[in-house]
Amino acid sequence: MAVNLLDFDLEGLAAFCESLGEKRFRAVQLYRWIHQRGESDFEKMSDLAKSLRAKLAGAAEVRGLPMISEHRSADGTIKWLFDVGGGNAVESVYIPEEDRGTLCVSSQAGCAVGCRFCSTGHQGFSRNLTSGEIIAQLWFAEHRLRAADGERVIDNVVMMGMGEPLQNYAALVPALKTMLDDHAYGLSRRRVTVSTSGMVAMIDRLREDCPVALAVSLHAPNDELRSELVPLNRKDGIDALLDACVRYLDKAPRDFVTFEYCMLDGVNDTPELAHQLVRLVKGRVPCKLNLIPFNPFPASGLKRSPRERVMAFARILQDAGIVTTIRKTRGDDIDAACGQLAGEVQDRTRVHERLVRAPVRVVPRDSIRQESKA
Ligand code: SF4
Repeated sequence: MAVNLLDFDLEGLAAFCESLGEKRFRAVQLYRWIHQRGESDFEKMSDLAKSLRAKLAGAAEVRGLPMISEHRSADGTIKWLFDVGGGNAVESVYIPEEDRGTLCVSSQAGCAVGCRFCSTGHQGFSRNLTSGEIIAQLWFAEHRLRAADGERVIDNVVMMGMGEPLQNYAALVPALKTMLDDHAYGLSRRRVTVSTSGMVAMIDRLREDCPVALAVSLHAPNDELRSELVPLNRKDGIDALLDACVRYLDKAPRDFVTFEYCMLDGVNDTPELAHQLVRLVKGRVPCKLNLIPFNPFPASGLKRSPRERVMAFARILQDAGIVTTIRKTRGDDIDAACGQLAGEVQDRTRVHERLVRAPVRVVPRDSIRQESKA
């Protein structure tokens, strides 16, 4: 199969061009054609030497992902489903806001982490995406929307789609570099966010190789509950995770880490847990808390926390001086909201069976009321 030029960051493309006997500046031209202009036909890359175009035609291609479907939400959110072969499909979501356009990108077909509240997690895991498959989501979305709009539309990328990006590190980093490169998308490091369920060693590597904004799926303030919700926690635990976050901030483009906290009715949303969360992070990790209304799906056996409980939880954090936001739900009429991305996954791990066999422990309503009064 021909080499897919979407797999390369600029360094990789320069090495590929050299292997064809071409100079580095040719790689810059080619990279710009592909990423800035969205061109995949070498014949249309008019300032490339004919000899290079001929070499490329024989050895390479710009292979995007076939789109299976496009759904548009009433709020402007767009969800695309892409075929990645072998019966697998991944999703990307474009979220327009007043001052920016965000693309939520997938890194794996499925996910092996198996978080309880995540519909991707319930589907199990098939395989890592290649760098080309990761960047192809941005390449497609940017040029599709730009064609309609004329202007650049995506200035914010969050690696929060299907998959744990740090479990696909080798493919992630070249894709991030292309997002950041001024000859490609030129996104600010502050506006590219890697969201992880908390792989400590890989957070340290990302800090050295390509520090971008960091979001961590926390979801609980103690190891017992977090290990139940995010099974990966059993490996490193919260203390080691928070220490890695502090180290990361040495090189991060932002001076805080975002902690994501999915609000689950009767599970992790009590006032007592909010106070525990304050004690855990305050004075230790510069952070913002992002409370996410859970988007229920039947297999989870979980429910969304009532609005007033979310507000009470937020107030405890805010009163303690922690910047706290409650995420607006976007695109839930097309199942594009956080935790709803499901795509198609040929599971090779039995994660789904494991999750079904051991349901999450739910705190009885009465005990929540008593804690609220305390
Ligand atoms: S929340 Fe992220 S890490 Fe957890 S199962 Fe879903 S995709 Fe995987």
